[in-house]
Amino acid sequence: MKIIGNATVLTFGPNHAVIDDGAVAYDENKIHAVGTTQDVRQAFPKAKIRKVDGRVVTPGLINAHMHLYSTFARGITLKDAAPENFPQILERLWWRLDRAIKVEDLELTALIPLMEAARSGVTTLIDHHASPHALGGSLDILKKAFRKCGLRGCLSYEVSDRDGASRRDAGLEENANFIRGLRLENEPDIAGMIGLHASFTLEDSTLARAAELMKGLKCGVHIHCAEDKSDLEDARKRGFRSVVDRLHRAGLSGQDSIFAHCVHVDASDIQTLALTRTNVVHNPRSNMNNAVGCANIEAMLKEKIPVALGTDGMSSSPMADFTTASLLHKHQGKDPRKAYDEVWRMFTRKNPALAGNIFKTPLGTIEEGAGSDLVVWDYFPPTPITAANSLGHMLFGLSNARVAETICRGHTIFEDGKYAFLGDGEEMELNARARELAQKLWDRF
Ligand SMILES: [Zn+2]
Repeated sequence: MKIIGNATVLTFGPNHAVIDDGAVAYDENKIHAVGTTQDVRQAFPKAKIRKVDGRVVTPGLINAHMHLYSTFARGITLKDAAPENFPQILERLWWRLDRAIKVEDLELTALIPLMEAARSGVTTLIDHHASPHALGGSLDILKKAFRKCGLRGCLSYEVSDRDGASRRDAGLEENANFIRGLRLENEPDIAGMIGLHASFTLEDSTLARAAELMKGLKCGVHIHCAEDKSDLEDARKRGFRSVVDRLHRAGLSGQDSIFAHCVHVDASDIQTLALTRTNVVHNPRSNMNNAVGCANIEAMLKEKIPVALGTDGMSSSPMADFTTASLLHKHQGKDPRKAYDEVWRMFTRKNPALAGNIFKTPLGTIEEGAGSDLVVWDYFPPTPITAANSLGHMLFGLSNARVAETICRGHTIFEDGKYAFLGDGEEMELNARARELAQKLWDRF
């Protein structure tokens, strides 16, 4: 048993309790106690205590929609004219990039952003992977990277018909094999879903096969849904009312599934998502970057749809999407009162609920029995901090603070600028090797 004491503990969870001079007792399995330093020490008198001098401690952060493979896109120059719209962004950048990824690239495309996750307090990532020319076994390579860093990961391969029947079949098989393998290993820190790219690159027969796998393996699908209006137009051309309508009729909605984006959805779609308890993931920075529109999170949350926050590969940490969401929806609604409650609920309730459902243990909350994922921030509140104003501290203080220590499953994985899972000089070596591989990939691109 270990104790972090003399901390300002932000518990998140239902009442956002803030504990002054607080402490958390934990081991590899779970959090055993949270309370004042005095009470927790009394409960576990033999446990080793680390005093953090009033620093803020929060639960480990959760990124609900990530693409680790996007790592090597950083700084890439496109040879063609700049894309004018979303389909061109996919054709000129992302689909060329994922086709250029080789098996030798996979480990580092995962390790680099996972290191970034560890140093920014992220302990759980829900990833959506694509590498059509390095497909078979790709999820196992990513899994190894998660294991090396000691982070929790939910992995899926994004199946598509855009690269032909054999790669579509291989994609479905990759998801199914990976999930079956996990069941045999019984590893609680890694999970799997059936990944699908998006409605407009998937035939009806592929959706049907994915639904069959979903039922057989008792898991959900992770798919981009109505991200751009072109996805909606495609669904209508195929004879459906909307993208949500098509995916729902195919049997892909439900409480284990993730429909990322849901920008182009109407009131009827929102009803479908609500009735089926389908998870939506909002990625505001990606939506702004691709100029695809702004999701109506207010309407979705009002109907009790679980809307979580993701980054869509923009960064490992969801912190920037959290702050962006709070700005975007005020700006979009031309009303400074907007989104206050919504972004807070997404970040501290919906992301934890989604991760908790996937990993079958309470996550993203500091309470007895929850997974022992914790972050110590180099943040000493300069103004009073309470349950009522902790959102203000998150948006304007913690979002700019450095992480002092990240703990995942009770293990310190990052502390004082050092990664516990890397040897001396390994960080620089990995980055140097990544630069070499990225250059080669850019040459092939
Ligand atoms: Zn995405």
